[in-house]
Amino acid sequence: EKRNGHEPEFLQAVQEVAETVIPYIAEHDIYNGKNILLRMVEPERLISFRVSWVDDKGEIQVNRGYRIQMNSAIGPYKGGLRFHPTVNASILKFLAFEQVFKNSLTTLPMGGGKGGSDFDPKGKSDNEIMRFCHAFMSELFRHIGPNTDVPAGDIGVGGREIGYMFGMYKKLRNEFTGVLTGKGQSWGGSLIRPEATGYGAVYFAENMLATKGDSFKGKTVTISGSGNVAQYACEKATELGAKVVTLSDSSGYIYDEAGIDADKLAFIMELKNVKRGRINEYVEKYPSAKFFKGERPWSVKSDIALPCATQNELNGEEAETLIKNGCICVSEGANMPSTPEAIAAFHEHKILFAPGKASNAGGVATSGLEMSQNSLRLSWTREEVDERLKGIMKNIHEACVQYGTDESGYVDYVKGANIAGFVKVADAMLAQGII
Ligand code: NDP
Repeated sequence: EKRNGHEPEFLQAVQEVAETVIPYIAEHDIYNGKNILLRMVEPERLISFRVSWVDDKGEIQVNRGYRIQMNSAIGPYKGGLRFHPTVNASILKFLAFEQVFKNSLTTLPMGGGKGGSDFDPKGKSDNEIMRFCHAFMSELFRHIGPNTDVPAGDIGVGGREIGYMFGMYKKLRNEFTGVLTGKGQSWGGSLIRPEATGYGAVYFAENMLATKGDSFKGKTVTISGSGNVAQYACEKATELGAKVVTLSDSSGYIYDEAGIDADKLAFIMELKNVKRGRINEYVEKYPSAKFFKGERPWSVKSDIALPCATQNELNGEEAETLIKNGCICVSEGANMPSTPEAIAAFHEHKILFAPGKASNAGGVATSGLEMSQNSLRLSWTREEVDERLKGIMKNIHEACVQYGTDESGYVDYVKGANIAGFVKVADAMLAQGII
């Protein structure tokens, strides 16, 4: 707290882990007296750098770039890059810290890291995006590599940005390697990687519902966000027989009582990924839907909620409203979207609740599969990758149940994910000594 008091998001993420892991450490002699959590909260390396680039008016712009190499005990650093004006060291440290546990849960050999910039991609031309990505990589390239640190996408970084960054990395290193994941199909990408986080969050919820003999069939689902994760969560939930009634962006949410089916989702994908427009344009196309400016979708009645936008987007009051309206399951697609008060409400009412580090791990897991395919110089089929993704989500669910079930049979997935993620990393750190 003394060292990181000015970093609220990071403290929030650490506190949640500490609450469940400290009692576990106290009960297990091998971790006692080793200051293992104290070591885990200190990044192995925090890199901050200047990114200068020229905008379309010929003016010089300066942004701050970061890469946080949090923990490499079980593999090369791995984690996304976020381009958003709110990016700062606290947000990236919280994300990097969560990533360590998440990557451990996937059972793949990946350490944890995160990076990005306070650059705002909104309203920028394609050329400006390219110049920024090139400038960003012209520094980042010296800190990463296929056996050192393998970044991926996150908010504001999708296939287009990964392409520009990969191009610059390849030029500077004169090497074609699997240094970034989320690459395009023809240049080393994996099938199902774009879908993986959203699909994974739905697969995880499916596993949770199955413990109650339930499923997505016939359920009403609220989703926040309308980016990469939200789009594919919507697609999979609909495929499994549910009706998705909301999507959102930072300007507000849309409510479509009839459900956002495959055709409507195709419109959203074109709007968000190609035209880069705002969510209210949905209502112009489908006038029976409603747009709620500046609001979040949690007052809408639903059985299942999938927060897929950003951190702290679902507070205690909103959690109470969801529960009052009959919500039985919340599976986080975003990282830390629920505040501590919201999580407390979900636990108090004993509803099924999955924290992002478990339920959104499908994205990084499939990035791990992309790394394997790059090393093997092979491409697996869509079905093969999807089967592996399903298997990984099932295993993560089982690990959470193993470590998180209480005497009454209720599964605290937060506790389960934290302890299962911790054990593997802590054991590796102990084996490698004090470094
Ligand atoms: P995108 O940039 O594709 O989409 C982000 C969405 O969230 C947009 O709809 C955006 O709206 C909305 N959003 C972002 N910031 C805010 C904000 N401050 N308030 C309200 N809405 C906001 O990102 P992703 O879909 O990739 O990421 C979404 C979440 O999922 C993040 O928490 C990310 O860390 C997490 N995640 C992503 C993974 C991936 O594979 N992509 C993997 C694991 C986790 P607007 O366009 O208006 O900004």
